[in-house]
Amino acid sequence: MSISIPKTQKAALVVSSDSPILFKNDHPVKQPEELAPGECLVKMHCTGVCHTDLHARLGDWPLPHKLPLVGGHEGVGEVVAIGANTIDCPVKIGDRVGVKWLADSCLQCEQCRKGLEQCCAKAKLSGYTVDGTFSQYVVSYVAHVTPIPENLDSQEAASFLCAGVTVYRALKYSQTKPGDWVVLPGAGGGLGHLAIQYAVHAFGLRVVAIDTGAEKKELCLSLGAEKWIDFRETKDLVKDIKNATGGEGPHAALVSAASGTAYEQAVDYLRPGGSLLAVGLPGQAQISASVFWTVVKSINIIGSYVGNRQDAHEALNIASMGKIHCHYVSKPLSALSEVYEGMQQGTVAGRVVLKMD
Ligand code: NAD
Ligand code: ZN
Repeated sequence: MSISIPKTQKAALVVSSDSPILFKNDHPVKQPEELAPGECLVKMHCTGVCHTDLHARLGDWPLPHKLPLVGGHEGVGEVVAIGANTIDCPVKIGDRVGVKWLADSCLQCEQCRKGLEQCCAKAKLSGYTVDGTFSQYVVSYVAHVTPIPENLDSQEAASFLCAGVTVYRALKYSQTKPGDWVVLPGAGGGLGHLAIQYAVHAFGLRVVAIDTGAEKKELCLSLGAEKWIDFRETKDLVKDIKNATGGEGPHAALVSAASGTAYEQAVDYLRPGGSLLAVGLPGQAQISASVFWTVVKSINIIGSYVGNRQDAHEALNIASMGKIHCHYVSKPLSALSEVYEGMQQGTVAGRVVLKMD
């Protein structure tokens, strides 16, 4: 099969943290004959915009990234070329695949062997250390692209590649059991609104959603949260959370807010034996918790970073069963700057998915 590949494409680039996003129509496309073994070229259908892309755009993380940078790591598209001499290739031309945050890892080191491939020292990160999905064609890696279940529409599937897999994995390792309570600070955002649905439909948990504003409240309650707390209105967060969970506090808290304040008090409101799942990534914040109460309440503090290939398969397969949906607004790539503004102001409920074709 021969597919014609243009020499140039539309792309959105971060040039520096203080200059506007640069929208180009003539960004070069890596040609099939230039692909290294193991690389593939994916023609993007669409891509979600994650708050991580905003961190990369602002340069507010203590982790260096490339510049100029094509951001984006929630992409769905079609494989249009595969590097010559790629062996044991798990995908073929025409396959619909997802490009996730972890673009590639060595698959040989201890972390990769243990399934913690996102912690591989040689990891390549889409839209961070390698160019990502805010362009019409993306170079990715055959070992790590994720097959998209047939019955999931590309726009619906996109945000499962980061937001979905991340919250799914965090809940998987939360040490909760069906019927337990989970508190979700950040519940109205991209990660949080999927966390509500995985918590309810995949893990049988009861959800207290925490976020702000009428739109996010309505979204969270409509997705299955039983209780809502507005973090801007509460006078006593610990008391409100304990009241919402029958007095004892939740069994787990999955924090997916991008602010350090959302982590404060988690050790205070968790019930004994509870787990704090650290997911949101404010660049400079510290988790400060009382050592005494962390020990005496036997609290687990767990950092959870995206997911491995298997987590991605599982998260998408569960989504394809039809009970978990991404609540998104579709926009063109040219809307990226305004999407970032909305995210900074906290006005994006759920996700924005950019249509690329
Ligand atoms: P988002 O902007 O869509 O959602 C964040 C939500 O948090 C917003 O709705 C906001 O109103 C809410 N919020 C802010 N302060 C709060 C507070 N004090 N209490 C409760 N809610 C509060 O962002 P997102 O795309 O869901 O990403 C969230 C964070 O997760 C970012 O820092 C991102 O970098 C990080 N992230 C981490 C991983 C990982 O692997 N651990 C993966 C993806 C994203
Ligand atoms: Zn992300």
